[in-house]
This record gives sequence, C-alpha cells and structure tokens, in this order.
Amino acid sequence: MATNRTFTMIKPDAVAKNAIGGILKMINDAGFRIVAMKYTKLSTEQAGAFYEVHKERPFYGELVEYMTSGPIVAAILEKDNAVEDFRTLIGATNPAEAAEGTIRKIYATDISANAVHGSDSDENAEIEGNFHFAADEKH
Ligand code: UDP
Ligand code: MG
Repeated sequence: MATNRTFTMIKPDAVAKNAIGGILKMINDAGFRIVAMKYTKLSTEQAGAFYEVHKERPFYGELVEYMTSGPIVAAILEKDNAVEDFRTLIGATNPAEAAEGTIRKIYATDISANAVHGSDSDENAEIEGNFHFAADEKH
C-alpha cells in the first residue's frame, strides 16, 4: 500500500495565486487518485515539526514562516510508483532548474515559495500522510 502512495501540499504561494484548481488538474491528468484531502492552515508548531529534518539548514526559519503565511491544501495521492512519478511531475526544488511542463516550472515563484511539496521516499510519504490525516480520513 505505502509504495503506491505519496503525500503533497499545495503551498501558500500557489493557493494565493488561485492555482489550486490548475495544480489538482495536473495531478489528476497525470493519473493520481486523491485518497485524502484538506484545505487548512499550518500552525508554527505543525510547520516546524513537519520540516524538522531541515532544522539545521539556514532556510529553516524562513521556511516555517512561509509555510504558515497562508492556507495550504494537504493531500494523499495514489498511483503506481507514486513517490517517484510525483517528484517527476513537480520538478526540481528550484523552479529555475525545473523541467518544462512540471508543476513547479509553471506555478512556483522561487526556491522557497515553490508551489508544491512532494514526499521523497515511501517511508516519508507514510509519515507525512499520517501527520496530516487519521486512518478514517483516507478513502
Ligand atoms: N527550501 C528553501 N531554500 C532552499 C532549499 C529548500 O527555502 O535552499 C525550501 C523549499 O520550500 C523546499 C523545502 O525547503 O521545497 C524543502 O527542501 P527540500 O530540499 O526537501 O526540497 P523538496 O524536497 O521540497 O524539493
Ligand atoms: Mg524534500
């Protein structure tokens, strides 16, 4: 099960640009099924915990501030090879380096405000999905 799922967030910059619909269409058109989804706003505690792995990085403080600056959409997605295929769909962390046709190339502002999150491993997909959703919220 876990190997067929990934976790995503549509980040505050993309929500502010009114890009939720466009991004969800790209996700659906790429063959991902939405297993769980919510429109929410992260607290400083939640964003800090979610990005705990980056705690020692110089951008951590700014990242937490940015991720709490406005509402987000959190979702669990299902597809064969979900983690890898979704990372391909979103493109490189820095939109200046993202391939043509990727979500970040189309919608991201810069390396920080880069429109979407995508889990980097099956293990993290499960941890991140469970961070945002209870078992009975996944369908
Ligand atoms: N980030 C940033 N500056 C950097 C690198 C990353 O602000 O130099 C932010 C950016 O929002 C990125 C997130 O931190 O999406 C997590 O970084 P990671 O290296 O895990 O990139 P991702 O997996 O999101 O592509
Ligand atoms: Mg990452």
